[in-house]
Amino acid sequence: MGLHDKVCLITGGTKGIGAATSIAFARLGAHLSINGREVDESAQRTKHQIEALGRRCCVVAADVGKPEEAIRCVHETFDALGRIDVLVHSAGGRIDGDLLRLPPESWYRAFDVHVHAIFHLCRTAVPYMKENGGGAIVLISSAAGLRGCVGSIAYGVAKGAIPQFARALARELADDNIRVNCVSPGIIRTRFQDCLTSEQVKANVENRIPLHREGRPEDVAEVIVALVTNHFVTGETIAVDGGMTMRIA
Ligand code: NAP
Repeated sequence: MGLHDKVCLITGGTKGIGAATSIAFARLGAHLSINGREVDESAQRTKHQIEALGRRCCVVAADVGKPEEAIRCVHETFDALGRIDVLVHSAGGRIDGDLLRLPPESWYRAFDVHVHAIFHLCRTAVPYMKENGGGAIVLISSAAGLRGCVGSIAYGVAKGAIPQFARALARELADDNIRVNCVSPGIIRTRFQDCLTSEQVKANVENRIPLHREGRPEDVAEVIVALVTNHFVTGETIAVDGGMTMRIA
């Protein structure tokens, strides 16, 4: 799918991986709807970067972990930009805690933001894509959704559902020419990783990541762009992790 004059909704598009993806899409000629819970300085900066490339950009403040706000986010995008061709769900953050310490509300919250949001976003966006004769959806899982990680049971299980969401939805929407794919980032330098100590960063780079560096949001954005623009890939999950999840030793 060429992106010129296409409209892309990126939840979590105000910061981090979502912001890098928004800018990469804008460089290819797309108009953007970017979402976050707040319209803060980062959101304004991303909007200005997109507009400086000559593209239209609206910012939708919504907590997409709440069904009515996820639905509103999609309708506001259509109202502002007139069509929807691409949906990327990049909104979300860490939910730390192990089985015995995690409050039940955090367990449910993990699924609200990372899984249930996809259900509501896709149910609302897919009819708009069908009007255009097709579309593309990219979901963001995690290395933590592919492997067992200590101390993030809810996050890992919710992220583990996302590759299967992509496969199931890809099968369901193939006749409508709507492709659904997934990326699984490893350790990508965004606000998400700000909690790591310098010792943890060193251990990751020296011992856990075979390529011996952290990823950049742009590394993930490049793969998302490829999954949206390529016509013949659907139902797939690609790890973008410097080899972290493929290693056995
Ligand atoms: P980030 O820099 O913190 O950006 C997160 C984005 O999501 C922000 O735009 C934030 O905006 C938005 N957001 C968070 N909760 C939201 C909600 N309930 N409703 C609407 N927007 C919300 O994090 P990131 O690293 O780009 O993470 C993006 C995705 O990649 C997440 O799904 C994360 O789990 C996944 N991931 C990241 C890494 C990594 O190492 N960075 C690794 C694996 C997977 P506000 O601040 O305004 O809410």
